[in-house]
Amino acid sequence: MDAYICLTCGVQQGPSSEPPGECPICADPRQYLEPPGARWATMAQLREEGYRIVMRPLEPRLWGIGVEPWMGIGQRALLLQAEGGNILWDCLGFLNEAAMAQIGSLGGIRYICPSHPHFFGAMAEWAQAFGAVVLVCEADKGWVPWQSSYVRFWRDVLELGPGLRLVQCGGHFPGSAVLYWAEGAEGRGTLCTSDTIMVTRDKQHVTFMWSYPNMVPLSPKEAIRIVRRVRHLPFDRIYGGWWDRVIWRDGRRAIERSLARYVAKTLS
Ligand SMILES: [Zn+2]
Ligand SMILES: [Zn+2]
Repeated sequence: MDAYICLTCGVQQGPSSEPPGECPICADPRQYLEPPGARWATMAQLREEGYRIVMRPLEPRLWGIGVEPWMGIGQRALLLQAEGGNILWDCLGFLNEAAMAQIGSLGGIRYICPSHPHFFGAMAEWAQAFGAVVLVCEADKGWVPWQSSYVRFWRDVLELGPGLRLVQCGGHFPGSAVLYWAEGAEGRGTLCTSDTIMVTRDKQHVTFMWSYPNMVPLSPKEAIRIVRRVRHLPFDRIYGGWWDRVIWRDGRRAIERSLARYVAKTLS
C-alpha cells in the first residue's frame, strides 16, 4: 500500500489502497482546500515528475531545505548540524535519493522536530530514511497520521542537547513550538519559529495567528502568553518557516515591538 501525500498541504497520510477522500489538515478551518478538492500523489509519482530537494547554507552548521518546484505550502525546513546529532526542524512532503546522500554526507538526522502539524510533511519516510526519531508535542498527538515506533511525544520544554531546546508555545496549534539554538547567529542565539511566531513580509516584525491563510488572529492574551515563553531566551536571529522569512538581527526587539503593536491594534 502507498502512503499518499496531499498536494495542497504537503502532509503525507497513512498507507491506504486508494487516495484518501479527505485531507484532515486541509479540511481543518486553519487551512484550505482548492477546488475541486484534495489532490494526492505518492512519493514515487513525485519523483517521476521531477521534484527535487534544494539545500542552501544559511549560516555555519545550518542549512535551509526546500522542495522545487513549489509543493504544498512551500515551506522551508532547517537542518542543524548539532554535536549530539543533526536536527531537522520542520519537515517536507518530498524526499529522494540525492537528498538522502547529501544529508547523509552532512551527518544524517537524529531528530526530526516539526513545529506543528502543517509541517509534518512526509515525516515517516524521512524518519525511516535516516533512522531518526520524530519529536511531536503531545498536545498535537491527534494530528499524527499514523502512530509508529519512530514518534516520541514531549511537552512544555525538551532539552535536545547543550543550548538546544524545544519550547511549546501553543497558539496556532496547542502544541506549536519553537526551537532555540544558543550557538546560532555567531553565538548571539537563534530562534526557529515557523508559524508559532510568524515573521512578516517586512522582516522587521512578527505576528501571531490562529490561521495564516484564512487570516484569523489569536487574542492579545494568547500573543502575550506566547512571547512569555521565549522572552527569557537570549537570541538575535529568527528563522520563520519560509526562505524569505528571516529576521537576521535584533530579533528579540522585533518580537517585543511586534507584540506591543499587535496588542494595541487588536484592542483598539
Ligand atoms: Zn492537505
Ligand atoms: Zn501552520
